[in-house]
Amino acid sequence: LLSGDGSLGVTIFEEMTTLALSAGAINLGQGFPDEDGPVEIREAAQAAIAAGANQYAPGKGIPVLREAISAHQSRFYGLTPDPDTEIIVTTGATEAIAAALLALVGPGDEVLTFEPFYDSYGAIIGLAGATHVTAPLLAPDFQPDLDALEAAFSNRTKVVLVNNPHNPTGAVFPSEVLQRVVDLAERFGSIIITDEVYEHLTFGVRHVPVATLPGAAGRTMTISSAGKTFSFTGWKIGWLSGPAHLVAAARTVKQFLSYSSGTPFQSAIAVGLELPDEFYTGIADTLRYKRDILSAGLRAAGLDVLTPQGTYFVNVDTSPLGITDAVDLARKLPALVGVAAIPVPVFCHAEGAERTRSLLRFAFCKKVHVLEEAAERLATLR
Ligand code: PMP
Ligand code: GLN
Repeated sequence: LLSGDGSLGVTIFEEMTTLALSAGAINLGQGFPDEDGPVEIREAAQAAIAAGANQYAPGKGIPVLREAISAHQSRFYGLTPDPDTEIIVTTGATEAIAAALLALVGPGDEVLTFEPFYDSYGAIIGLAGATHVTAPLLAPDFQPDLDALEAAFSNRTKVVLVNNPHNPTGAVFPSEVLQRVVDLAERFGSIIITDEVYEHLTFGVRHVPVATLPGAAGRTMTISSAGKTFSFTGWKIGWLSGPAHLVAAARTVKQFLSYSSGTPFQSAIAVGLELPDEFYTGIADTLRYKRDILSAGLRAAGLDVLTPQGTYFVNVDTSPLGITDAVDLARKLPALVGVAAIPVPVFCHAEGAERTRSLLRFAFCKKVHVLEEAAERLATLR
């Protein structure tokens, strides 16, 4: 897994970011904002450092942050996780995903995800020795076929791992789809892990946390992260919440992955979670505007835009330009036009890669003038 065939070599994000840097290209590949988040959050981190919050935090996270996570879930979703037993702080959502999966699955177990899927899912399922089963999301709207979803469940489905809003497609799943996942998880005795890092980044549609649906709370671990909501992806503060016995299992694993997570960043993110509602609607509105600017540019370049309802990402179909190999195009694009993007097939197994072979993902979490410049450069593709 780790050597030889390159299956867990350098991540696509690292590869494309390196390529973008060396070609001097605009990096619309890896999803990170090119502007920092709110100044009060940054100042809170600086104040925490100055005040000496520089040694190990408690393994499960500082109490102030766990309380703020609970209050945030209560304010937006009416959920009331116990900060002491039902929440842990993690080193980004990435560690929460790893800790939850490593705690729950092993050889002989199946983990079901949609496909395309975020890259770390496949890697951690592999490291755990479990089997990765997928149900396809199909263009143009990337909603699942519910019969195919049901057919992908089996008595060995230990975990169904949902990502909503969905990276890389930008799909946001309505409650009917999510309720079907919950009902199937109940029928097959599966635990639900839900990765909701883009929970506040939806455009005109409501985000429905899986844990709020009938039948879900007792079997659902919810994961989120400060990186996307507050535009501090480099701070790597995430969290996981759910029933105490499941959170305790993930915590046991987390102890041996990182032990604890960045102390001064934790108190700063607690400040962020308490920002007023206008902050949250503001980031979604700004991103929606950016989505529309980049989408117009991509359309003008002759690409078929698959409009996302959430996340940082817009996908395009390159086949109208006669291009059918997005992986090849993504490798050439930085030198060709000075823009980097991520090919969607890398988020798939072989069959899904074939299905998505002409799709490219662009990140629009960038300054407006950067998106306009990228659009101008992409126009030369025609
Ligand atoms: N899940 C999804 C769907 C993501 O897109 C990302 C990264 N942006 C992560 C998890 C990882 O989040 P973090 O940076 O907090 O580890
Ligand atoms: N989640 C980000 C993306 O999808 C990248 C994070 C990473 O580099 N691992 O672009």
